[in-house]
Amino acid sequence: MEVWFPMVNQSRMRGSVEPLKLGSVRRQRPGVRRVLTIGGLRRTVQLGFAGFIIYIAVLQAAERGSSTAVSPEAFCPFGGLEGAYRFITSGGQTIPHTHLSNLVLAAAFLVTAFLARSAFCGWICPLGFLQELTSGISRLLQRRVPAARSIVAAVSSRGKPLAALDRPLRLLKYAVLLWSLVGAAYFGVMVFRDFDPWAALITIAAPSLGIGTVVLTVTLVASLFVDRPWCRYACPLGAVGGLVARMGPIYLKRESEHCKGCAVCSRRCPMGLDVHSATTIKSPDCIGCLECLESCPREGALDLRLGLPGMGR
Ligand code: SF4
Ligand code: SF4
Repeated sequence: MEVWFPMVNQSRMRGSVEPLKLGSVRRQRPGVRRVLTIGGLRRTVQLGFAGFIIYIAVLQAAERGSSTAVSPEAFCPFGGLEGAYRFITSGGQTIPHTHLSNLVLAAAFLVTAFLARSAFCGWICPLGFLQELTSGISRLLQRRVPAARSIVAAVSSRGKPLAALDRPLRLLKYAVLLWSLVGAAYFGVMVFRDFDPWAALITIAAPSLGIGTVVLTVTLVASLFVDRPWCRYACPLGAVGGLVARMGPIYLKRESEHCKGCAVCSRRCPMGLDVHSATTIKSPDCIGCLECLESCPREGALDLRLGLPGMGR
């Protein structure tokens, strides 16, 4: 069974549902209407959540040491997954520093991943946004400053042999996931906590020189050369989201009879997926950002569809 997704189907309609065309409309919209695109909406949502996290970080720093201090761990969905795993595998034991909010966030994360293709990663996660922001600044500098262009070109050229490691390195995040969950269940503590750039980010207003801060710094430096390196290679939360999203009802489909093979979609994909050569985007690394769909210049070449796994997709 396969049904057309009425919001974004660009060229083919069934029934009387009017489609919203998303193809190449973005650059044609002047002024405030520029925001009324998928990309504009995504940036607005990302900015809103980044602002919230900055507020929490400042609050946490201001109240540090007091009994009413905001706990940074309380805002981590992955803490909820670790806590739930420990609870289930140990017959009811919990992990210190986890809260009810962790479980609520974890549940919301899983539902969003299932229904909207890991949209937490693509639309909400402030760490993902920060990486995109860093990559955007890098691209801007490369366009405007010849020296920056030369440096990035030199580093990229030296790092070219590493491109062969891209696929195997993407499996690393599943190892991190396994280690985090099994470690939390076995030792009863968040073993991943000290390495977590998300934890370093949420305590950024009162930074400490821990491993998490080093991981965050390395991630941001790497973002100057590679889009979303943490999400691609190491994020255990993204690993869970991607696996859940694969079972979800929404998927991206490329129609080869409309596609001209320009690969604009692949170049815009922040997760480095080969959209232009796929028929259905099945990769668990897809974060549902819809950059590919919005950037595609051909009507009907890329569609977002509803359909159950294994049934015509
Ligand atoms: S799907 Fe669109 S952007 Fe991607 S290769 Fe085909 S025509 Fe180009
Ligand atoms: S395939 Fe499309 S929706 Fe998925 S991550 Fe890449 S650009 Fe975003």
